[in-house]
Amino acid sequence: MSVNYMARPWESRLFRRCRRAWDLGARERQDYEPIERAQVFDFGEAMHDALDVYYFPGMWEWGRAIVRPLALAGFEKSMRRDRDAYTQTGELSTEQIQDWEQHLELGTAILTRYFDWANEVDRFTPIQVASQFDITLPDPTNPDTGLITREGRPLQYRVRIDLVVIDDHELYWLVEHRVVPDQPWLDLEALRLDEQALTRSWAWQLSFLAKLEGTIHNELRTAAPGAGDSAMEVRAVPGAGGVMTQRSTESFRRTHIPRTELEIERQGIAVALEMQDMTDPSLRIYPNPAWQHCSRCAYRPPCLAMTQGIDERPILETSYRKRVDVDFQLGRLGSVWGFVPEIHRVAEYRAPGAEQ
Ligand code: SF4
Repeated sequence: MSVNYMARPWESRLFRRCRRAWDLGARERQDYEPIERAQVFDFGEAMHDALDVYYFPGMWEWGRAIVRPLALAGFEKSMRRDRDAYTQTGELSTEQIQDWEQHLELGTAILTRYFDWANEVDRFTPIQVASQFDITLPDPTNPDTGLITREGRPLQYRVRIDLVVIDDHELYWLVEHRVVPDQPWLDLEALRLDEQALTRSWAWQLSFLAKLEGTIHNELRTAAPGAGDSAMEVRAVPGAGGVMTQRSTESFRRTHIPRTELEIERQGIAVALEMQDMTDPSLRIYPNPAWQHCSRCAYRPPCLAMTQGIDERPILETSYRKRVDVDFQLGRLGSVWGFVPEIHRVAEYRAPGAEQ
């Protein structure tokens, strides 16, 4: 057990969804993960890896014609890494191989079209990509002190952001990339309420002692190319922090949402209150079954055993293990930052081919 109690946004989401799943999977709880990987590849993660390369600050001044193939190579590398990891624990079926190949093709096509589109709408300079950092949680009732558990462990939160950019007016924006299914776009209010964007904004401000103007929601729809890709729709909607602007085609949508200081601060208070709940010694653990999340829950086998009054330990011992990966995987593009006031970069990984 480390000195600090460290939580992550995925653990908060799990805590809210189902305390039993959270208790089995959170690093500060039982810390189990399935031995067998649930999927051959993570398409969304591979697309993020490509965008990390495309927006890598150290290559922003390079011609986009040089960076595009590097970004596509980043996508393919990520897909291959996932597939190789999967084959260490199981054989691929013919359907799985076909699915992998189709997604490799789909991702390459979407990214190629995206780069054309982004050329038109990227009006900023990236300053940070795929950064991970830890913050100490301020006490909402006394922001000058940090929260601690009943046992005296300081509460910390580990956050990873997609991208931070600076615009032509020297204002900072936090960018969220989203690879979304081929369905109607989410309502603007869903973006406004996006808890992940707000949590990351709050944590970034706290860690880097700078103010964000707002969040940029950069969505890529996993659709085949359509006639609507060439027609750009633009709209502007007044909001609490200023005018929200949106540019979209059939496959891509980018929304700028100015955020008020209060809105970001309130998210920080919500995170702190939730972490106090999480670390309360009298916390009760119970399942929250709903097929919407149980259908994709990694802990369904032990949960079913518990529900039926069967000993779950043999399942956990044979099909699960204590987590072996660290939060930041070596070989991925990005950086890890220490805690303020001594902000320092402890690791940075170069984009494929960046040394050329
Ligand atoms: S299967 Fe459902 S109820 Fe059981 S742990 Fe998972 S999310 Fe919770």
